[in-house]
Amino acid sequence: MPWVPPELRLVCLDIDDTLIDFSAAGRRSLAALIGRIDLWPLWERITDEHVARVVAGELDYGEMHVRRSQAFLAELGALVDATDVLQFEARRKEMLRRSWRLFDDVLPCLEWLAAAGVRLAAVTNASGAHQREKLANLGLLGFFDHVAIAGEVGVAKPDPVMFHSVCVEVGCEPAEAVHVGDKLETDAVGARDAGLGGVWLNRGGAAKDVPAGVHVVCGLAELPELLVCEFARVGVPLPR
Ligand SMILES: [Mg+2]
Repeated sequence: MPWVPPELRLVCLDIDDTLIDFSAAGRRSLAALIGRIDLWPLWERITDEHVARVVAGELDYGEMHVRRSQAFLAELGALVDATDVLQFEARRKEMLRRSWRLFDDVLPCLEWLAAAGVRLAAVTNASGAHQREKLANLGLLGFFDHVAIAGEVGVAKPDPVMFHSVCVEVGCEPAEAVHVGDKLETDAVGARDAGLGGVWLNRGGAAKDVPAGVHVVCGLAELPELLVCEFARVGVPLPR
């Protein structure tokens, strides 16, 4: 039997830096809070160290947020007590909430996918309430059939269980799904290894070697064409 490409029933999308310009919001909020624009790399380094501790099961996200701010303020040499840290973190979160913006290509892409009859899932490695609130505040929640949050599923991308749990929830096979995200390994390679189509969203045009079997788009405007080319049919057939 010749190989027949599968139908596409499910598109999974990462949230931060895929749908929402999260890094820009983080940079703006931090700069506004401390009055300096040069400390984002330090904040990112401390964030990576603390997220690794969450993934290792040493901290939950709530503890991580406070400890990250504590470590950041300590690096600045600020003499702070526990109350100062909590105040800094509360102000940072409030500023961040007011800074979230969608990328311009998000709504046209989601409208196209919805019109094509594809099921949609948001798949994120961050924590719960905060991610749903972001989607709701930006008017996106209604597009999604399912929101998979690592803190609730108990595993995180690139663990295949994360991707398979979404397929089970929506009722499709991994081969009938793609996942799109801004992190090459966590999103695209992870999805490919789990049997889904893996799409790396390379918004910044980073020069990286892309592993075999991973697709690349530079913006979500390129996604419909890629899906139409790769799958036998996009979306479920409409009733006659
Ligand atoms: Mg992301």
